[in-house]
Amino acid sequence: MDQEPLDRGNAGRSDRADARRDDRGDIRPDARPDPSATGAVPRAEPVVITATDVAGSRFVSGTGAAPDPGRQAAVVAQAESTLPMVVQSLYAQRLSSVELRSGAAGDRFFALTDDRGRDLTLRLDAVPLPSGTVARTHVNTTSDQHVVQLSDRMDPRQVGRALSHEVGELLAVRDRAARAAAGDPEVAGVAPNRQDVLARGGLGSAERRLSLTEEDLGRVGELNYLAARMNDATLDAGQRAESRGELSALVDHLGLRPRVPADSGHYAPELQAADVRRDIVDPHLTPAAAGALRELAVPVERLGAADAVELREFRARAEHARPIGASVGAPVMPGLRPDGSPLPREELAAAAARAAEQRTRAGSATLDQLRAEIATTGEWPARRVVVGGGASLVGRDPEALLVDARGRWHLDPGEGIVQSPDQTRDMRASGMGDAHQFADPTARVPRDAVRLWEDQLAVRGPVVDGTAALLPGQDGRLYTHIRPADGSPDLYVKVEGTPTVATGLPPEMVPGVDRRDAVDLPEALDAVRGQLPAGSPAHARLTGEVGAERALQVLREEGVLDGLRSGGGARAALQTLDATAQWERARAAAPGRVFIGDEIAEGRFDARAASAEGAPKTWLVAGAGGTGVANAEIILEADPEARVTIYGPNLPPALENQVQFTALRERFVSEYGGDGRLTIDIHPDNRVGAVQMSLGPDGKPRFREGRVEADAYVASLGRTAPMPEALRGLSEGTRAGGGQVRGDLMFDRDRQYLGYGVTFEAGGRQHRVEVTGAASQLLPRDVFPRDTQAALTAMAVRQVPSQSGNAAPGFAPVAEQTARLAEARARGTVERHASVPESWGRPAVAGATASGGGANPVANAARLQSGRRTASPGGGVPGSAPVPRAPRPPQPPRPGR
Ligand SMILES: Cc1cc2nc3c(=O)[nH]c(=O)nc-3n(C[C@H](O)[C@H](O)[C@H](O)COP(=O)(O)OP(=O)(O)OC[C@H]3O[C@@H](n4cnc5c(N)ncnc54)[C@H](O)[C@@H]3O)c2cc1C
Repeated sequence: MDQEPLDRGNAGRSDRADARRDDRGDIRPDARPDPSATGAVPRAEPVVITATDVAGSRFVSGTGAAPDPGRQAAVVAQAESTLPMVVQSLYAQRLSSVELRSGAAGDRFFALTDDRGRDLTLRLDAVPLPSGTVARTHVNTTSDQHVVQLSDRMDPRQVGRALSHEVGELLAVRDRAARAAAGDPEVAGVAPNRQDVLARGGLGSAERRLSLTEEDLGRVGELNYLAARMNDATLDAGQRAESRGELSALVDHLGLRPRVPADSGHYAPELQAADVRRDIVDPHLTPAAAGALRELAVPVERLGAADAVELREFRARAEHARPIGASVGAPVMPGLRPDGSPLPREELAAAAARAAEQRTRAGSATLDQLRAEIATTGEWPARRVVVGGGASLVGRDPEALLVDARGRWHLDPGEGIVQSPDQTRDMRASGMGDAHQFADPTARVPRDAVRLWEDQLAVRGPVVDGTAALLPGQDGRLYTHIRPADGSPDLYVKVEGTPTVATGLPPEMVPGVDRRDAVDLPEALDAVRGQLPAGSPAHARLTGEVGAERALQVLREEGVLDGLRSGGGARAALQTLDATAQWERARAAAPGRVFIGDEIAEGRFDARAASAEGAPKTWLVAGAGGTGVANAEIILEADPEARVTIYGPNLPPALENQVQFTALRERFVSEYGGDGRLTIDIHPDNRVGAVQMSLGPDGKPRFREGRVEADAYVASLGRTAPMPEALRGLSEGTRAGGGQVRGDLMFDRDRQYLGYGVTFEAGGRQHRVEVTGAASQLLPRDVFPRDTQAALTAMAVRQVPSQSGNAAPGFAPVAEQTARLAEARARGTVERHASVPESWGRPAVAGATASGGGANPVANAARLQSGRRTASPGGGVPGSAPVPRAPRPPQPPRPGR
């Protein structure tokens, strides 16, 4: 510790980065430029957007195995009874009411009102969180619905402190969004300050004017909370002393006192930095906290004997708790200039174009290199391989050859992702990029930013633009068949190690298929084959690429179709064959008027043709999910005369929480003040069947669904779940050879989902492939049982709640997932599971009673704090509620951990 550099300009950053690693206990990007990283991209700013561990203190997320089954309920119950107290005691000037309610679906949430009279909601949950994260908040400044997730391994007695942090940080994020929306020049158009003041490291007197970051304000909440408990006469002496010790530890952690001995050369600058921090933080402290800091934010030599002993013990524990090796190989964050400063918004488009060119050049260079190697050795080269990657490129192995078709966001003609920087604020912690750099808090994250990040990540290692498929070679090895996008000849690469596949979401469904038993054509054909007698010549005629129309014809010609229809055993398969044949006919009869939603969303839709003479003017978008809404937007943007109807049984809850949907309604739906070009027709009876096409009086095709008739049709009806295309040949080959295909789910030690693995076993050989990113949220139906998919889906909606405006296969969650996969691989901590860990099941929450509305919430909640007084606004934080089944206090970690 004596060695800490304190020069803020340079070495001080390194110190902050170290402090960050202390915080999280896991790999984080740090702030120093990385000369090894493709020349230009510096390491990312360290990020902590959550209430993180104060290593060595009691405020830790907990580590180790899953907690006992009752712990989640205990943490939630504690949180529900504590939140009103925290709000009333620490944030009464900002939040005027807080009330626990039950939603229509039986969910529970707090309804709050802020000092400007704006309503917001806060949901509380206890879930598996990564080690080092005590709590995290999914902040949504668009819908003002927020979710706090607490670690299900934490000590429930620390819940009040965690909530103090989260509420403080949430209010800071909301403030910034409101100021930006009002055009405040200090925040509008400007990326937020990312340099936390409350982190150890040097600060000069000139920096007294720095303002606290949102994370800092979360820590201020903790200081205020602990100070109130330290002085709370309703607590016993032991509890007050414990709070005092925790506050003193936090003071150390936040750089509010020097750590080096008074005779160290670093003492004076550390003392000065602590003084500067005190000056900055003082206006935000309650009187109790200011008083506590006067007593405790002093060098250890000036503390009373008991405080000094406690602090030295804390420091010893913190030292042992420090993670090892975290800085080595930390990923770099794209979107920064070579000097580490954020790229300004006005330079984004040019930077994205440059990054795209650089990627194209890198792709050509990689192909040249591979071909040169083939020419020299006469053999296919051997490489580690990654197939596909968008958001998942965050976890890209820089040693591996990436083969990517540059689809999804490189083709999407839309404005950007449907979320705002505030809704993706945790993303930069994964190393993807800082969305606030390129858009205001509640605007949309622009498409160019996404492309820039992905292209910069792609060139961190060898990359080829093209498609790839994995195949077994005659020598028993696994090969990657690469089809380069530049039209040059195909090549093969021998696969080293376990390849990664991140090819994005699987294809969408054709309208009218049987969603349960034969969701696509391959499933339907499989089912039909299963019904045919073994010797039927139809078997041979139904192999290879067979369309639905052709398959029905074969069955008719072989004289088996009527039997299959009357038999009933192939009902689902025949429904899917009929619907798909109807689809094929419509596409053939009305080219440019019948689309699968992804075709629109990936630019396989000619906008100029759409606005040309005779082009369709009315569009029916069947399906009201995210892709359907994105399609509607693209069509309305492409043709100013187009009118679109979105048709479906319900709108997914995430939509109302996203930026795009609400803005789209305001622009185009008349009831919301729009120009009336968009109609959203939602009714539970709006079930979409096979495409209905007829010819209008003018001889042009017409499409009908319910009461809606249109010139063109887009199907956005949800997705199928086959084996990813890149593995289709491997899978079919394995099975055809009598082999087996088995799947497992991958989690890290913190029960975070990393993707799934598939093992292909035939002829005594095994090949394993790992699938991650959006692709990993839909498990191949021919490998995994349906209840495993159901459990995965249930986990996904809990881990990424709809209130966040995100979904598990979305951009920011995928970035986080794949960063964790890379980390777990590096540490050797990838675990294989047969299904989703039990603790992702919903807890039976038994806590405070939710009101149906009306009753005094604070009093209600306070009454639940048995033996506690009701706190008055501005007063001290009452002690924690009695803790259901209190666990033992955390033990100091063993040295070496
Ligand atoms: C239409 C649509 C709109 C979406 N909008 C949003 C949104 O607004 N916000 C949000 O959070 N999420 C959105 N998503 C979810 C999306 O999945 C994530 O944003 C994110 O892109 C997922 O990252 P990924 O790396 O898993 O896959 P992707 O980003 O989809 O990347 C997969 C890559 O693999 C390539 N590929 C596929 N097959 C092969 C192959 N055989 N060989 C080589 N390369 C291959 C593709 O071309 C692509 O480049 C949307 C998805 C879709 C389909």
